[in-house]
Amino acid sequence: MTSKSAAAAARATVYGYPRQGRDRELKKAVEGYWKGAVTAAALRRTAAGLRAATWRDLDAAGLHEVPTGDFSYYDHVLDTSVMVGAIPARHRAAFAADPLDGYFTMARGTQDVAPLEMTKWFDTNYHYLVPELGPDTVFTADPAKQLGELQEALALGLAARPVLVGPVTYLLLAKPAPGAPAGFDPLTLLDRLLPVYAEVLTALRAAGAEWVQLDEPALVQDRTPAELNAATRAYRDLGALTDRPKLLVASYFDRLGEALPVLAKAPVDGLALDFTGPAAANLDDLAAAGGLPGKRLVAGVVDGRNVWINDLTASLATLATLLGLADRVDVAASSSLLHVPLDATAERDIDPRIARWLAFARQKTTEIVTLARGLGHGTAAIAGELAANRADLASRAGSALTHDPAVRARTTAVTGDDARRSLPYAERTTAQRARLGLPSLPTTTIGSFPQTTDLRTARADLRAGRIGTDAYERRIEAEIREVVAFQEKTGLDVLVHGEPERNDMVQYFAERLTGYLATRHGWVQSYGTRYVRPPVLAGDVSRPEPMTVRWTSYAQSLTNRPVKGMLTGPVTMLAWSFVRDDQPRAETARQVALALRDEVADLEAAGTAVIQVDEPALRETLPLRTADRPAYLSWATEAFRLTTGGVRPDTQIHTHMCYAEFGDILQAIDDLDADVISLEAARSHMRVAGELAGAGYPREAGPGVYDIHSPRVPAADEAAALLRRGLAAIPAKRLWVNPDCGLKTRGWPEVRASLEHLVTAARTVREEL
Ligand code: GLN
Ligand code: ZN
Repeated sequence: MTSKSAAAAARATVYGYPRQGRDRELKKAVEGYWKGAVTAAALRRTAAGLRAATWRDLDAAGLHEVPTGDFSYYDHVLDTSVMVGAIPARHRAAFAADPLDGYFTMARGTQDVAPLEMTKWFDTNYHYLVPELGPDTVFTADPAKQLGELQEALALGLAARPVLVGPVTYLLLAKPAPGAPAGFDPLTLLDRLLPVYAEVLTALRAAGAEWVQLDEPALVQDRTPAELNAATRAYRDLGALTDRPKLLVASYFDRLGEALPVLAKAPVDGLALDFTGPAAANLDDLAAAGGLPGKRLVAGVVDGRNVWINDLTASLATLATLLGLADRVDVAASSSLLHVPLDATAERDIDPRIARWLAFARQKTTEIVTLARGLGHGTAAIAGELAANRADLASRAGSALTHDPAVRARTTAVTGDDARRSLPYAERTTAQRARLGLPSLPTTTIGSFPQTTDLRTARADLRAGRIGTDAYERRIEAEIREVVAFQEKTGLDVLVHGEPERNDMVQYFAERLTGYLATRHGWVQSYGTRYVRPPVLAGDVSRPEPMTVRWTSYAQSLTNRPVKGMLTGPVTMLAWSFVRDDQPRAETARQVALALRDEVADLEAAGTAVIQVDEPALRETLPLRTADRPAYLSWATEAFRLTTGGVRPDTQIHTHMCYAEFGDILQAIDDLDADVISLEAARSHMRVAGELAGAGYPREAGPGVYDIHSPRVPAADEAAALLRRGLAAIPAKRLWVNPDCGLKTRGWPEVRASLEHLVTAARTVREEL
């Protein structure tokens, strides 16, 4: 292995690309197909057109090898289930009648059949459909989609590399099918699955694939020896195949750790590794493992899941080091570019001084090509690009947007006391009881009330200039009056204003905080045909003026009952945005926390006695490696306490999280030092109540008794039964009665009936105390 030949061969590639098209054509075609307005043939034509356009763009940008098979009508894990024939029994009839409709039935369900469960793809905001596997799952190879897409790319004259979810990751992402025996582990199906992968690989080779990529991101998480052993066996078997393509095993989102030597030793032809963020540890680990002699290394040096330009000079230095460790070094993004928007040049409204710091999928592709050229032909070959990149980075580092001295001075001056309430919970609760005078089992909601079409129209009208600010604000006030009157009439104890002014719980605040910016076309797939446009947190964060006080105060002016102020917490404000990468997240979180702290102070000064700070994302941004979790939880909980720590003892701080499983962050939840927490619990029959009690959680809690993810109206008896379960774990004086989450996606008729039943249930159970 000489570094010279490794360098000269440097090639540029990516693992995947945004699927939707410039104007989300894919979303329109798929949803049109669901409605019957687009034929299957037209849908297939649109999809093939989008794939071809992507490949042509990638080729024109100078990429040497394009990915195939990464495209999807809905989700690539679902595609993998189809590829290996893992169709759950309840979906088989639909699938047999029509594979395309069967596919969408698995994704979305029908009136009579439940879909596959959906969950987050590692620590990204992409959601995949969870494979359901049981002891009687029979795998059969269905390589048609992979073969078809490979052939399309080859027909364009391109070097194409099919990308598949690897067999170990596929099984590790699966869950036991309904009816599987307790404790069934899908990984035990490996020996049955491998022959199917072998068949697909052989077919791809026969169709002309020189290389095939097998993605194994599950190996960047902590894995047991048995799981690592499964990886060893999988790649020993697949590596031993004859007539197979060359195998590239890819990992991303973090370092491989103990899985690195396993894959380095496997009889495969190449590894793709992430070298960004915490995954940069792969570099030392690779050197320690003796490198990849005789193998291809694809180096993910361009961040595939954030929107900032690469530091080309730093990446070249990493690549130069890697040259000594493998037979051939190629350049890629750290992960599929699926997680970033398509094209930053489409953002005409972003200040050009900031736009030059942004790199979406197209710009990242160009960076990858540039780096491959620099690696292969020396830095002189890319001198112009390097100079421009240095200038862009310097403009970012020196910008007033990224460095606001007032914000910096404030974060530096933060002390431990700022992040601590003046009295411990036990003493605060007495003061709060005296101030609020609530009954036992107090009733409340999580914040939002139905976001009606009427409200959305009013917002669109305001944006388009069809109505003025005054008219819009009167419309919002009218909504607040209705929401408050309803809650009073229904007999809720702690009211909310209903959040009618909010388009989204993160975007609303991002639009009002300095340092954030919005995109117009920055769509990213969340799941299926749902795309989101996360705000971009580009600079130092501050709050020029109050953001919510006006609406909370208005609501409070209408009633004598306490109205709860409602804010999105600092961790969630980061988790659902593209966050600046030029300083630690902890520092950015602290800035956001201080801006929110000002809002909390203004709410309190306006007379708000209860303030809720939502942190639904606290758990979802937990680092993938447990070793990294304490550091994360430390800054995350500090940011929450910094947001809320400045209030009087008799001001009650609530927090809210939408998950029923939080056993791994119980300590962190306690560390938030909130007075009350509301959690999702209806579907899991109040299991959280027992878990909180088991952990000795000392504060007040509201495990949800109304499942808001379904239009179903819970009967009062049902809610009462859940409450009694809750009471078995949490004493009456610490138990709240509330829904699982906000009501914005629900309709008024169900919300009315459900909340009436919830109040009835609380009253019934109070009588029994
Ligand atoms: N306060 C927010 C609402 O009610 C909370 C939403 C959430 O937790 N996802 O809509
Ligand atoms: Zn929620």
